[in-house]
Amino acid sequence: MPDTHFPLPLPAPCCGGDHRLLPVASLGALLDRVEIPGAGAETVGLGDAVGRVLAEDIVATGDLPSRDCSAMDGYAVAFDGLEPGRPSTLPVVGRVAAGHPLDRPVRRGEAVRIFTGAALPDGCDTVVMQEHCAAAEGFVTLPPAVARNANRRRRGEDVSAGTLCLARGAVLRPQDIGMAAALGHAALRVRAPVRVAVFSTGDELCEPGEPLGDGRIHDINRYTLTAMLKRLGCAVTDLGIVRDDRRSVVGTLAEAACGHDLIVTSGGMSVGEEDHVKAAVGELGSLGFWRLAVKPGKPVAVGHVGAVPFVGLPGNPVAVMVTFALVARPLIRRIAGAAAAEPRRWQVAADFAHDKPAGRRDYLRGRLLDGGRVAKFRHDGSHVISSMVEADGLIELRDGTTRIEPGDRVDFLPFAELL
Ligand code: AMP
Ligand code: MG
Repeated sequence: MPDTHFPLPLPAPCCGGDHRLLPVASLGALLDRVEIPGAGAETVGLGDAVGRVLAEDIVATGDLPSRDCSAMDGYAVAFDGLEPGRPSTLPVVGRVAAGHPLDRPVRRGEAVRIFTGAALPDGCDTVVMQEHCAAAEGFVTLPPAVARNANRRRRGEDVSAGTLCLARGAVLRPQDIGMAAALGHAALRVRAPVRVAVFSTGDELCEPGEPLGDGRIHDINRYTLTAMLKRLGCAVTDLGIVRDDRRSVVGTLAEAACGHDLIVTSGGMSVGEEDHVKAAVGELGSLGFWRLAVKPGKPVAVGHVGAVPFVGLPGNPVAVMVTFALVARPLIRRIAGAAAAEPRRWQVAADFAHDKPAGRRDYLRGRLLDGGRVAKFRHDGSHVISSMVEADGLIELRDGTTRIEPGDRVDFLPFAELL
């Protein structure tokens, strides 16, 4: 497979003594060059739309609310019919509940019993809360201090006709589904789920549920990867654990290249004798880059197996999650047709001291403390899965930073933004 998928000049790979690292900041431009298949679209009912990527713009065809209505249970009146500065006693000429509008206009000096959400009758502009009123024998007495337009929900104050309410590419949240419902959509056009094939590599791996033999560990990464992919709305094909043997990896990659939009693997990406993934991808397609200037994380590969984009993540479980967030997540969002969105960072005060080399971006596991402070996990090894469990997110230390003192402002990325 020619390297035409990567028209940018690529950093040389790290073998052969070349140890140049790719800065995280360069990732976006490289990922933009990955050729992705166009995902299809389908129509789903609102009940199935959460988490899906919207494939159409949703523009309001009418106003929300569609007419003025009451924000309270009480009495609707025309403000100009009240006695200024004095209590007003008015005849109650009707009753309007939500869904039951009044069929005649209301005149000045009249009141109508009204309930929350009921259409404000023509002629009324003000609603007085029932707690402030005294009703008896067909009349109601209103207090002296009533504000014009009190408790009036105005037509179009939520959304006016013609407003773009939901944009194509939005990942639908519960409130977005609510907006679609409010606008009267029973179904939405959404992008087809991204089909992702996942496998782990490593002779040491065994399935959770199997007893651990000597020197074996349970496969963590396939499970964290599957979980993260599902959160992103992907349809995941689990291709299991693949042994550290080039032929096995080539065979599984070839299988993965059928019927998927993306292949994600973990392990076997380094330069050791037991690391076969790079060579196998090279045999079936092309590899874009590897060795990212990030801790935890390097090495990482992006490429194609046949025409299918490929992301090869490291083996260590924390590195897998961090590099998934940095590399796989933006790529998946692109394949899914989701609008590009940088995860948001919050500035918090470090509750720790930390040294790091310049030229590398570090992600520490952070736990938020009271007062806008963040603590780092005591152990920053890339294999320490408990650090992820205890953390609320990642502390991002910029490439140029070499020393953090307690009290310094650091960038914090909550997991909700990343995973
Ligand atoms: P590798 O890149 O394959 O050399 O793996 C680096 C480290 O990550 C080794 O200690 C592996 O045992 C560990 N590792 C690799 N894959 C997994 C996995 N799926 N689950 C848990 N640990 C893994
Ligand atoms: Mg391995």
